[in-house]
Amino acid sequence: MSVPEAAVHVAFLSSAGMGHLNPCLRLASVFLRHGCKVTLIIPKPIVSLAESNIISRFCSSFPHQVSQIDFNLTPLDPNTVNTNDPFFLQYETIRRSVHLLSPILSSLSTSLSAFIVDVFLISPIVSIVDKIFCPSYIYFSSSARMLSFLAYVSVLADADPAAQPHPSTLVGDVIHIPGITLPIPRSSVPPLFLLEGSNSFQRMMMEDSLKLTKLDGVFINSFEELEGEALAALNEGKVVRGMPPVYGIGPLMACEFENVDQGQKGCMSWILEWLNERAEGSVVYVSLGSRTETRREQIKDMALGLIECGYSFLWVVKLKRVDREEDEGLEDVLGSELMGKVRERGVVVKEFVDQMKILGHPAVGGFVTHGGWNSITENIREGVNILTWPQGGDQKINAEVVRMNGVGIWIEEWGWGTQKVVEGKEIAKRIKEMMSNESLRVKAGEMKEAARKACGVGGSCEVIIKRLIEEWKRKA
Ligand code: UDP
Ligand code: UDP
Repeated sequence: MSVPEAAVHVAFLSSAGMGHLNPCLRLASVFLRHGCKVTLIIPKPIVSLAESNIISRFCSSFPHQVSQIDFNLTPLDPNTVNTNDPFFLQYETIRRSVHLLSPILSSLSTSLSAFIVDVFLISPIVSIVDKIFCPSYIYFSSSARMLSFLAYVSVLADADPAAQPHPSTLVGDVIHIPGITLPIPRSSVPPLFLLEGSNSFQRMMMEDSLKLTKLDGVFINSFEELEGEALAALNEGKVVRGMPPVYGIGPLMACEFENVDQGQKGCMSWILEWLNERAEGSVVYVSLGSRTETRREQIKDMALGLIECGYSFLWVVKLKRVDREEDEGLEDVLGSELMGKVRERGVVVKEFVDQMKILGHPAVGGFVTHGGWNSITENIREGVNILTWPQGGDQKINAEVVRMNGVGIWIEEWGWGTQKVVEGKEIAKRIKEMMSNESLRVKAGEMKEAARKACGVGGSCEVIIKRLIEEWKRKA
């Protein structure tokens, strides 16, 4: 079936990982709902199974409005990259294959109104901007507070342009970002940024921070009531001069195509049945996102904490970073005795679950999350209490946003998830604290209302998207 002519044509290029792909496809769906045509450029090979599955469901859900184009990546010589993380390897591979994009873009049958790429592709896109012939944007898959940090890195690095400082030397005990009341402590900065030596995350942050101002805009999965101060500071040029518009179009909504239809074989149908039998607000949902393996040293104490907390729980465990590599049974790791006790009180699965459906279920009253921004915003839309347990990356900065807004707790003494083993007793105590905290529930309820307004009819997301579409039409 050929794609009908639409007035506005938007191309998307994501990078890797569900935390990047989900917001990309959700943003694309917003444009689809407004009648735009979408081209999805898909870097191949795809890293995880969850990504392959959702891409095919997305494309088949919009057969007339979406075209897909494969972007065949040139494999990297592993000796030229110092990471063994498959997702970061993919970011590097895409960055180094970007010259192959221009022919793809010029082969499109209708011209583009806008090109929207993943946050990890800022410098590569800026380098080919003269060949794109339309405005280029990024979608930022984290908080506005984290975007302020990324933007401010260029200011920190620019203090002495002659020097080529190591990122760790740019950061003092705290970072005071203009326009942002609460400074970012050094301890919240993504650990990879501060790590000795050189890694691809550092290089991306340092290179890309300088190039942010060359973009036409940034889409961010946040909204006024949640992060008004940071959004204003960015948009008013307080964080960095010349910052392009930052469009708070969040919280992005989960879409129909995300439905993990696993039929009889999958776990979702019995998980939902199990939840249906539980009292309202009585279940703790535990998940550290799509690519954080629970450390072997921690897993038994997590089980003990959940058993002791006194609530029913739904625990999603990943034993490997990439789902395709999952090859061990949970019982092998936990042992049959502990596994038996876990099953008496709750449910534990290793599969990819339909997180939005779980968070939206009335039985779920609390969420223990690593603090991935998608998980946080999905949760805020559902008004469930949060306990953040940052494991790495931007997650402490996101945890600060959760705490500042009074919608969740964050136990700073736990440090990064990789630093120490938190004992089962302590985990149980903090889960109880989160589940029984009425003030969190009130705040989470208020934020849920604000979130629904922001992404509802006539809300901030719709206003921004309609305005941009009109702007692009005028330029066509
Ligand atoms: N997710 C899911 N089922 C799972 C694990 C994750 O649907 O079993 C989704 C989750 O809803 C979110 C994304 O995958 O949209 C994970 O993104 P996030 O930013 O929370 O964390 P990351 O996985 O990038 O660390
Ligand atoms: N990582 C790595 N080497 C690198 C860069 C990153 O191993 O050079 C891994 C790191 O171990 C961690 C993850 O990438 O698991 C951190 O990703 P982050 O949360 O910063 O990025 P995002 O979740 O936003 O993609």
